[in-house]
Amino acid sequence: MHVNLTLFKSDNVLLNSINVFILTLLGCMLGSHARMSGIDLSVLWPVNILVAALFYRCRSLNTPWYYCVAYSAMIAQDSLIYGWGVSALTINSANLVFIFVLVKLLRWPERYRQQEADITSSLHLFASCMIAALCCALVGAFAQHMAGQTRQPFQQDVLNWFSDQFYTAVLFLPLLLTLRSDFTLRMPNADWRSSIPLLFLVLSLGLGMLVGPIAILAYPLPALTWCAIVYPLWAIRLITLCTGIVELIATALHVQGIYDHQDELFMQAITIARISIAAIIFSPLLMAMNAKTIRQLNQRLLMQASNDFLTHLLSRYGFNDALNRYGKIPRYRQAAINIMLVDIDHFKTINDSYGHDNGDQVLKHVANLIQQSIPEPGLVSRIGGEEFAAVCFDFSEQDFFALAEHLRMRIRDTPCIIHGSPVSVAVSIGIAYAPASAMDLTQHVHQLFSAADKNLYIAKREGRNRTVQ
Ligand code: GH3
Ligand code: MG
Ligand code: MG
Repeated sequence: MHVNLTLFKSDNVLLNSINVFILTLLGCMLGSHARMSGIDLSVLWPVNILVAALFYRCRSLNTPWYYCVAYSAMIAQDSLIYGWGVSALTINSANLVFIFVLVKLLRWPERYRQQEADITSSLHLFASCMIAALCCALVGAFAQHMAGQTRQPFQQDVLNWFSDQFYTAVLFLPLLLTLRSDFTLRMPNADWRSSIPLLFLVLSLGLGMLVGPIAILAYPLPALTWCAIVYPLWAIRLITLCTGIVELIATALHVQGIYDHQDELFMQAITIARISIAAIIFSPLLMAMNAKTIRQLNQRLLMQASNDFLTHLLSRYGFNDALNRYGKIPRYRQAAINIMLVDIDHFKTINDSYGHDNGDQVLKHVANLIQQSIPEPGLVSRIGGEEFAAVCFDFSEQDFFALAEHLRMRIRDTPCIIHGSPVSVAVSIGIAYAPASAMDLTQHVHQLFSAADKNLYIAKREGRNRTVQ
């Protein structure tokens, strides 16, 4: 699925400022409402991470002006909810510190932007969130003390701020970084079996909730790990975000049953839960990165194994693989099969006369001509040094012979240009035909191979540069 986000792409400063203002305001409101809800959880303080991700993604927004816009939105929201106070100025500066430090760290070193999906980048992301949260916590706790808004020891406030910012950042940032102005999402398979890991996660979350606060953190881990291996990266980022939020709400509800709302121990338990969740969530995120890297590597290896490096035709392995795939399609299972083996005549002499590198040019030249002559959905492969195979479907014996003859003459009449001079190339061709049968396609083609090979041998014996059927 292709997604295009162009909201902040404009060069219009007024429009961008309005968008930044509204986004900041919405983020603050979401955070404030979560704080003032029946369960005072401080479940989320998403505004900092939202704005930081935005400033990181859109370089043009990372300027003092837009920091001022975001700051004014934070102060406006604070004044709306709690009434005007100078403390709004100092406390919100902690939010700006978070945004500034995180964007700076994410942009350093530059390599992070190029390799967002590798493991060192995840560690970088995790460490950046931690440092930004710590800087924000120091400023925020200090501002709170200066404003006389707290009776707790300074360290407890720092820890409180830190856990709040760190938890939200680890939860949201990976997903937010998935959102680029232009990106493609790999969708999970629509098969019901692919939803089993998710179902397992929901069940383990439910069971954890029934058992208690440690279980709610520990039980979902195997399911999260499973999800991380099978789902695309963006999906696991979304899943960890939702799981982290559910885990915190469930833990807070549980803790609320034990301690009074105003009790210091309540906040301590929440702080510990937040940091634990951030740490736990990080493992599946790391694993998802690893799974993605392995998937990409597998794809690359498969590509290399399936294609011939020199001619870009199918390799023998790729040829068999394609036949197996075709064999599953009824249209090809019920088709007549035509097979053609092409062998370059006296290729050894070409190698000896012009050198191995130029011999390679001749191979590419012949491969191109064969590829151009075999119509879709035919398959062409380089099955050996200077030997090629082509499979077509539903040609009559005469038509396929005519196709092979046409190819042979085209190769004969199209010399390969080496160092500006034309070099003539000829090929011998053996073909074979089998009417439609209920046989397995791969097996059927392999049986036909020997018939075509015999005909190729006859073509060579009878003087080369000919087609035998
Ligand atoms: P014939 O007409 O009987 O087919 O004779 P030929 O010389 O074409 O056949 P032979 O099997 O004697 O020689 C094939 C040569 O192809 C030998 C080998 O060195 C060369 N060869 C195999 N793979 C490559 C390759 O990738 N590049 C180059 N340049 N030569 C290759
Ligand atoms: Mg040969
Ligand atoms: Mg040959």
